This record gives sequence, structure tokens and C-alpha cells, in this order.
Amino acid sequence: MSQASSAFRINQEGYAPGLPVRAAVLGEGPVTLKNAAGDVVRSITVNAPETDPASGDAVTLLDLGVLESGEYELERGEEKRRLAVKPRSWNAVTHALVKGLYYQRCGCGLSPEHAGVYAHPPCHTAPATEWEDRSVRRRVTGGWHDAGDYGKYTGPGAVTVAHLLYAWKLFPRGCGEDLNIPETGNGVPDILNEARFELEWILQMQRSDGAFYNKLTKSHFAPFIMPQDDLEPEYLMPVCWCATADAAACLALAYRTYRSFDEPFANRMLLAARHAWDWLQAHPDYVPFRNPEGVRTGWYGGRSDVSNRFWAACELYAATGETVYRQAAEQLYTPDLSLREFGWMEVGGLGALCCLFDLKENAGDVLYTRLKQDFLRRCENALTLSEASGYGTALEPERYIWGSILPIMGSAMAMIMAALITGRRDMRDAALLQWHYAMGMNALDLCFVTGFGEHSVMHPHHRPSGADGIEAPVPGLISGGPNKSFCMPQTRERFSPDTPPAKHYLDELPSADTNEIAIYWNSPAVFVGAYFNTPV
Ligand SMILES: [Zn+2]
Repeated sequence: MSQASSAFRINQEGYAPGLPVRAAVLGEGPVTLKNAAGDVVRSITVNAPETDPASGDAVTLLDLGVLESGEYELERGEEKRRLAVKPRSWNAVTHALVKGLYYQRCGCGLSPEHAGVYAHPPCHTAPATEWEDRSVRRRVTGGWHDAGDYGKYTGPGAVTVAHLLYAWKLFPRGCGEDLNIPETGNGVPDILNEARFELEWILQMQRSDGAFYNKLTKSHFAPFIMPQDDLEPEYLMPVCWCATADAAACLALAYRTYRSFDEPFANRMLLAARHAWDWLQAHPDYVPFRNPEGVRTGWYGGRSDVSNRFWAACELYAATGETVYRQAAEQLYTPDLSLREFGWMEVGGLGALCCLFDLKENAGDVLYTRLKQDFLRRCENALTLSEASGYGTALEPERYIWGSILPIMGSAMAMIMAALITGRRDMRDAALLQWHYAMGMNALDLCFVTGFGEHSVMHPHHRPSGADGIEAPVPGLISGGPNKSFCMPQTRERFSPDTPPAKHYLDELPSADTNEIAIYWNSPAVFVGAYFNTPV
């Protein structure tokens, strides 16, 4: 039954017993919540709400408290909406977000056994040419297609893997089920099997001197064709400081994670991480990455490499215990480091994860005590943003950028970390509101994960989903969501200048700026989902 006209906005994948149930309602008037027997279990008077600055909606966030498992219905006059409370409500979507990465695999075919109707023959198997020296040709295969395009990018890949590895390290029971991928049953958790597919590719992206190529792409984006039909040559694009640091960090983290499963593989990663660090030390002056002339694929450069080097130093210290890395991290640390950022541009939050949850007190005064203080202060900002939002979304209205889901999931990650460190429930509950946002409690009444929710993204900017002739998009991919800050002219034309930022969204295939998918948007959602999906 379509409930498109409902005034209620809910987590469309349901709620969990033991956690507060929150829903949003537009307008005013008495609201009741009834259980399956029709008994009223909550009765709330909603007064005239304030206007939410990001969405322009007159909206109230309802606190329905902790509810027992069961089916419920929200009512206000003729407006009704069903919601479910059940254990492991978010198990399927959390695992689908990991499996979504399997569908992005490159250099291999996807078999019907694992991919169902989304199977396709191998793609991008030809040797790559170095852009700067066309006489160099190398076979570099594997890795995930980065986003809606078929490029593969080192920094975004490293960040994605790190989100997955920390999700598994911190919340193994929330993300630990089999995914039906080729490696399933090999004795290694499937989330680590999937991450390894990218790690094996990252290792191939290292140049002989230790630096990492920024990306492996064509000179331009492919049209909307299937990956196996994208046959134009791929190039190893010039090396990049940020990519080299991110790869060093990710490989050092992976060394610690995989050591107990496959020691030779782990050692290979640590060696590569050290080599990358040595290259960075030998090249202290940062040179920003620029797309070479004639190249129009993703930039992924970074304005500075400080947070990237910081993260790398932290992970190498955690991996080796060697003072030289700790000293480097301490020297790079400043209170204004991007400790609440987990994306490809700024990665200070990943360094914070390493210091606060792996190194802990061993990190020393700067990297533990001071960093913790600075980090928790940033989390207060996220909490304040959530409290100021009609939907509880921890994002400034002007930060509805390309991929706004990333800072929203990043805020959730930070507040989860703060809740774990301090035991504060307000942080946990605000983090949960970000998860609800992704699952449909938002101004669009839309679950941003393909294949999930009552109203779901149907036309993501994702080449296989657009070219495969199948109506339903590839499942388990999260859309970047509303973007008013960096939108394309053709998107801007579709909206009035007064359209609120949180409604600047088109569920249309060409809308790369509001409806693309990306591996590094899936992965922070995996972290958040794994935490809330952990059995109590
Ligand atoms: Zn491919």
C-alpha cells in the first residue's frame, strides 16, 4: 500500500527494541500510536512546529520511547503510517551495504550464483598504460568501480576499506554474516573477504619508488554502458601525496586486521605501507594533484595532505609500535585537525579512530588525552546540529553538498565513537537519528539505499543500473542525496532558487550531483549500521 501522502516520516526498515523510537511528523495536531491490537500506547499533542531550516518543513520529531517488538500504527486523523519494531531490523540492509561493494567488483565477472540477475562477464581486464610514460604498461586488475562510473581511485578505495575494517574491529557481530560472495566459507569473515578484494588492487597501485598512483581510469567517463562493454584504454594517472598517505594508513591498518588470517598477505601490506611512508618522508613538500590535460575523470586530490599523513603515522605506529611514527603523528597533530571527517578529502577522523580505539592510553598525552578532548568537543558540535534540525539531521543547511550522505554518516560515526568513549546516551541517540535519515526519516520520505524501504531510490546515477535493462537498480547502494551547493546547471534549472537544500534531489539517472552512488558512501553507512545492528 502506498503511503506517499502520509505526514509521518519514519525509518522505513523499522526500529529496534531497546532503542528509542523516533519519527517525524509534518504539521500539528494530536498523534496517537496504536499497537497491533488497536490499543493506544502513546498519545502526543503536537503544537505548531518551527520551520526546519534545511528542508523548509514545519516538522516535529516525535519521541515514542522504547517500544516492545511488534507492529504499530501512527495516526493523526486520517493520516496513518505503520511502523515495525523487531530485533535485528537493520541486519539485512547493513549486510546489503557490504554486498553492494561486491557488485562494484572490477576485473572479474559477477556470476549468477552470487549476483543473480545482475551477473555480467569480466570487465576492464586489459593492461593499463602509465599516463606520463606511455611505454610503461602494467596489468592492474581487481578493485571496485568507485561510484556511478568505472574509474578506480586509490584514496577513496583506502578510505572505504578503513571504514569496513573499523566496522568489523569494533562491531564484528553487527556485520559478520555470510554475503554469498565467491570467498564465502573460507574461514574469513565476508566483510574482510570483500575488503581484501580492494586491498589486493591497492597493492598493485604502488609505483616502484613507494608512491601510489592516484587513479586508474580512462581519460573520460564512459557512456551508460555495461562495464564489460567499456573497452577503451585505462591509464595509471600520476602519483598523489594524499593517495600515498591514505594507502599507507589503510595497508598498515589492514596488516593488523588480517595478521591472524593470513600472515604473508599482512606482511606484504605492512612492507608496502612502510615504503609509501618513506616516499612521503623523502617528499615533504606537498604537491596538489591536478588532472593532467585531457583527463576529465574524478579529481580526488585534497587541498592538503596533513590529515592523510597524520592518519598514516597513527596506523603505522599502531602496526609497529615504533617511536618514529608516534613522533611523526605528534608533530602533525593540531587541535584543528579534521577529527570529525571520515571522507576522501579529510581523514582526521580515521586517525582519531586509531588513537582512541586501538592505541588508547598507549598513544600518550598528545594522541590520546588531548586528542580525545578535541574530538569530544567536535562531537558536541554534531549534537548541536542534530538538535537544531527538524529531522535531527546533523548537517548545516549550507553543507548539503555533492554526497551529503557522507558528512551525515560521518557525524553518526563520530557520535557513536563519543557514545562509546563516554557512555553518553544523547550521543548514541543523535547518531541513531542519522541512521533514520538514511533509512527514510527525511524531508524526501525516501530510503537512500537501493532495494530497501517503502520508497526507495530507483534511478541512481550508476552505469550498470542504467544499462542492464533490469527495472530494479543494483541493490545495496546508497545515494549521495540532496545537493544544493555544488549542483549541475541542469539540476539547478529544475528547482526554484527558494527550494530548500534538503529537497534538492532528483531520483533520476542523469543526476550525478544528487543521485550518484559511491563506495565511500556505502562504507560509513556500514559502520553505522553495524553498530546499531549489533545484538544487545
Ligand atoms: Zn570493471
